[in-house]
Amino acid sequence: MFNRTAHSNVKGKNKDNDFVSRSFKRLVKNDFGNYLTLRLRYSNESQIIHNRRRDLKAKHVHIQDEATVLKKINIMINGGSDKLQVVTDFDFTLTKTHKNGNKTLSSFCIFEKSKQLPEAYFLESQRLLNKYRPIELDPKIPKEEKIKALDEWMSLCNDLYQGLHYNIDELDKLVEEYGETLRDGTIELFHHLKIQEVPVLVFSAGLGDVVKSVLKHHKILHDNVNIVSNFLKFNGNVTEGFQNPEKLLHVYNKNEESVDEKYHELLKERTNILLMGDSLGDANMADGASKESVILRIGFLYHHVEENLPLYRDTFDIVLVDDSTMNIIEEILSPVSKKF
Ligand SMILES: [Mg+2]
Repeated sequence: MFNRTAHSNVKGKNKDNDFVSRSFKRLVKNDFGNYLTLRLRYSNESQIIHNRRRDLKAKHVHIQDEATVLKKINIMINGGSDKLQVVTDFDFTLTKTHKNGNKTLSSFCIFEKSKQLPEAYFLESQRLLNKYRPIELDPKIPKEEKIKALDEWMSLCNDLYQGLHYNIDELDKLVEEYGETLRDGTIELFHHLKIQEVPVLVFSAGLGDVVKSVLKHHKILHDNVNIVSNFLKFNGNVTEGFQNPEKLLHVYNKNEESVDEKYHELLKERTNILLMGDSLGDANMADGASKESVILRIGFLYHHVEENLPLYRDTFDIVLVDDSTMNIIEEILSPVSKKF
């Protein structure tokens, strides 16, 4: 997709030139470095993927079934960008888990940096976090139990978000201060997806208002980007819970039932799907896709690595451990170009 010499005026010519230079350097680095690198060769009959096996041995790249991964990538290349769509989680997928040695903030946590919130809110929010977050992260807890707990957590959050005095204008300022946490290469990735007119669904169980503000802040809320998330309902400067309290999203219910009919159609038309997430539940984000669809699932793993890795390898096609970049995604999507 990412023809490294084709540019648009999305960010201006200079920016594009900068990108070419950076991309080229990264490409060179990848050639000799430890990243997964796929090299393509065309034959008369078919497209053949050659991978450099030494790159697949990179410590942080884990692939359960290499042959299937290569087959999926080949289908994506053959389909071109007209058949492609991207479905991605937001918190700790588009954003890093840590930066300069510090943990980064989730979308909900950025909201909570506001000085407008009362002490009672923080006490209750912390109580809920201490109770439910360990359940969400514990790999030993069965999925059904997690779903029940997270439904309960979101419902209690909806109660908590009622009647708060909150001037939404402050959100953009908080994002300026705390929202500089996108993975390296995310901005370039979104610009290229825009150029190639590839739909991007940002499917977030976080706080939609913050997700939107972060994407806007980085100028990547292009018209090919859709956000499905939990958005607050405001009455003036007072919150009234979430906009859609019957359909509150958490990591285990982000699937076909959470997207509207319009997006359902898109899921069906664009049968090659690149999916990115950092929670096991994220792997189901494209469940509404048709049976013929090819879904390449990429999982970012940072928490409980040793315990989680076997399950992540079973769930995602490619697992990237403690990777703060979009390098692998760029490498995979580079050869997918619009067919003319
Ligand atoms: Mg996440």
